[in-house]
Amino acid sequence: MRDGRERWAAAVPGGRPRAGGERAAGVRRSLVLALALAVPTLIAVTAAAVALGVRFEECAGPEEGAAAAATRGPGRRGRQRAEEEEAAAARPWRESRLPGSLRPRHYDLRVDVGMDNFTFAGDVSIQVECVNATRFVVLHAHALQVSSVSVTADGPGGGAVRVQRRFLFPANQMLVAVLHRELKASRTYRVNVSFHAAIQDELLGFFRSSYTLDGERRYLAVTQFSPTHARKAFPCFDEPAYKATFSLSLRHDPQYTSLANMPTESVADGDGWITRRFARTPRMSTYYLAWAVCNFTSRETRSDGGVAIRLFARPDAIASGAGDYSLHITKRLLGFYQDFFQVQYSLPKLDLLAVPKHPYAAMENWGLSVFVEQKVLLDARVSSASYRMELTMVVVHEICHQWFGDLVTPVWWEDVWLKEGFAHYFEYVGTDFLFPKWNMEKQRFLTDVLHEVMLLDGLSSSHAISQEVRDAADIHRVFDWIAYKKGAALIRMLANVMGQRVFRKGLNAYLLSHMYGNAARDDLWRKLSEAMRSEGRDVDVGAVMDGWTLQMGYPVVTVSKSRSERPATRYVTVSQERFLYGQGGRGNSSLRWQVPLTVAMGNGSRVCSETLIWIHNKTETHRVGEMDDGTWLLGNVNQTGYFRVNYDLQNWNLLIRQLRADPQVISVGNRAGLIDDAFNLARAGYLPQGVPLQLIGYLAEETAFLPWHAASRALYQLDKLLDRTDDYALFSVSPSLARQPVASTLCLCGLCLWQDYVLKQVASRYHQMGWPSNAANGDGGGLRASDQTEELQRELIMLACSFGKKECHRRAVAYISDWISSNKNRIPPNIRDVIYCTGVSLMDEDVWEFIWMKFHSSDAVSEKKILLEALTCSDDAFLLNRLLNLSLTSDLVAEQDAVDVVVHVGRNPRGRKLAWRFFRDKWDVLNARYGEALFMNSRLINGVTEFLNMEAELSELKDFIQSNGVEAGPALVRALEVVEGNVRWHRLHRRHFYEWLREAPGPSRR
Ligand SMILES: [Zn+2]
Repeated sequence: MRDGRERWAAAVPGGRPRAGGERAAGVRRSLVLALALAVPTLIAVTAAAVALGVRFEECAGPEEGAAAAATRGPGRRGRQRAEEEEAAAARPWRESRLPGSLRPRHYDLRVDVGMDNFTFAGDVSIQVECVNATRFVVLHAHALQVSSVSVTADGPGGGAVRVQRRFLFPANQMLVAVLHRELKASRTYRVNVSFHAAIQDELLGFFRSSYTLDGERRYLAVTQFSPTHARKAFPCFDEPAYKATFSLSLRHDPQYTSLANMPTESVADGDGWITRRFARTPRMSTYYLAWAVCNFTSRETRSDGGVAIRLFARPDAIASGAGDYSLHITKRLLGFYQDFFQVQYSLPKLDLLAVPKHPYAAMENWGLSVFVEQKVLLDARVSSASYRMELTMVVVHEICHQWFGDLVTPVWWEDVWLKEGFAHYFEYVGTDFLFPKWNMEKQRFLTDVLHEVMLLDGLSSSHAISQEVRDAADIHRVFDWIAYKKGAALIRMLANVMGQRVFRKGLNAYLLSHMYGNAARDDLWRKLSEAMRSEGRDVDVGAVMDGWTLQMGYPVVTVSKSRSERPATRYVTVSQERFLYGQGGRGNSSLRWQVPLTVAMGNGSRVCSETLIWIHNKTETHRVGEMDDGTWLLGNVNQTGYFRVNYDLQNWNLLIRQLRADPQVISVGNRAGLIDDAFNLARAGYLPQGVPLQLIGYLAEETAFLPWHAASRALYQLDKLLDRTDDYALFSVSPSLARQPVASTLCLCGLCLWQDYVLKQVASRYHQMGWPSNAANGDGGGLRASDQTEELQRELIMLACSFGKKECHRRAVAYISDWISSNKNRIPPNIRDVIYCTGVSLMDEDVWEFIWMKFHSSDAVSEKKILLEALTCSDDAFLLNRLLNLSLTSDLVAEQDAVDVVVHVGRNPRGRKLAWRFFRDKWDVLNARYGEALFMNSRLINGVTEFLNMEAELSELKDFIQSNGVEAGPALVRALEVVEGNVRWHRLHRRHFYEWLREAPGPSRR
């Protein structure tokens, strides 16, 4: 599963501290426990069968829901607890997990889909194996009307097993059948259930969606089962470890077509219906089953190994060739992954389905991956390089899941990072395969994954990547950036420590030994350790990685020349402590990691040596090469490690001097890393505020994109913090300041000093790089290699325009004026978002209306998105309010885009208050709409709170949390910590920050 992502989006997700450091196989242990409990249960059940039957009648009531209602009333707590303890063993549906007495082997599933009245009805016949004798059939069903349940025994002497009673237990989304007699261990049975329900509007389970073709509204119905929504479409054992095979038939109106995981086996007509039977799937988890009923058309290609690859979308999109790019890269990617993993793709076909609405960017259903249109359809004439890059990475991600996810599935959701971390890491590796010049894994990974997630994981409200998961709400929470980005960062660290060849060998063994089954993280560690051992390196990967996966956060490693060892010129002292933005609890954290620290030493012209040091303790001394006073130390070479590095001031100064003298001596990755570490160490108070500002003084000499990208991220981050602080009071007109020719005007306020400082760093490179020509971008089918120059150009234009460079503003206004007067859009696609936004913010209401009109009339999804975002850039509170209200009420704004609107209004300094107010006023509406899709929800919460930095705003946030606390969840807890951090920064560091800006040497600063 993949969420959408944005260029400047700060981290977001949900999470909570993990209670203990138990090992993964908590899952297996609890299964064992369940089995152990089953034996006494069995005795108790048999002995008291009659009595129990009576008690069921009493407490469950005749209809669904009654059992749950009976346990929920206030004032019944004490009795409820006693009852629970007493009856837990006898009433397995009261446990949040399935009891494990029955295991499904095969599902025969038939679904009749009514596209005229949006209902469906189905029959499922599940072949189950009885593991432990039981009188209860307990499986998942939610929001389904169940009309019959029957159980039959397979084989000789089989026949019906009478159902004494059946009921739904909504609290755990379970369907229970109590049988007259016990099912016997080691025998197989069939559980048959008939059911019906409405096709949902909510984008989960089996839902409908629509689009317009030739002025006419058309509908489609499609599934989204991950993580716990298969149970909304058919009764099933809806936990990932209950893998089974599936034979699916869909019956529907013949004017539609239908798709599923497997190819069509047969099609039959009759009574005005069509019945399509799909081939039997391999063993798989319920949440990877998928189907769709639509009247899309498709294009097809074939992999070198003969796998049919098709892309289905709206007929007009297919006709325009918008799907060709994704089809083309999918074909190449299948070959790449087969070669990388040395494991064949498992199914005879792979369909990509582009739907107009989807709760996520994409979902990796086996053989039928579903994408929201924006992440799979590409109009090469108008798409920017960044849109193309994002789309490519989503496709790369989903195809990777066909192995990490579909083929080998995490045992339980606590280790969801085992699939999501891999798929996210491979976004970079796979994209490098497609476009080697993009340099994704060595470069973009740093700013987009590593730096991004360390922001989040440096909060005390973070959580361990492997986290305890009990109920459905927990399951939704695990799909957060810690799972995706920290997972990817840890995998990358491990791949670098092991070496690519050994890493691949280990992955191959892991996939082969768990294919069509499930695995926990210890299974992976075991295979990777074996791969290391086979190369003569005895490393216990599990022992190393447990520190990183079971503990939250990450260390800051401080490296300095040793003061105590003799000779001091050969030793370094390294120490580790948990990095935290907040100072509370910093000293007493006992967390330790096994850190693979690489240290480089260099002087003015070259790197003299590189050493790998394993750190285990709080402080250690290690022998390295010869050093003198001018030798600098640099930790975490190429930023392959998941930690920050700090130095003493003397070493920081040596590094700064090196960057100014000759930045190329330090690798691109490390230049970006130094910038990110310095800004964040200063923000958290580990470093004086002036160090990062001094560090970026070298940027005029920086020709590579990545360090600029890291710097601009850090600068926007800081800018968010400063924004509304007008520090007139801090400054009096000092003679030294008055003499400084600061841009064209004399700045007295803190904010102007800051903007001026940033523009000064940007100016010379901005002028040197110039603006792009307005030639059309891209050539359709194949992708041009990413042009770092183009990316850097864009970055500089964005910095210049957003920090107020007049010349940049003039050019943006000229572009927009030209567009309006000629009705020809000659703005280069790559900088359209910057120009639109700048134009809307500087120009009058007519421009806003013009963009609004273009937003309506545009068909290209990428263009639509940036037009909508541009509308949020207005300075006019009336227009911003109008837009906010339209986002929730108008059909014109797609549901998944409404959150974007609110978040982007929040990014606009003029819109912050409005977005924060709107969010609180509409909380109920927003929560009802997005509650379950927590990714969006927490992105929203983050987007409307991250800039709050005053005591009064902190109180508003606290009030809001207090009045909504129950539903609010971890996203608000995190928001609170971020805002507290903002307020604290202002209290402790703002003055130093401005003082440095005021005292800093003149324009050259070198
Ligand atoms: Zn995914």
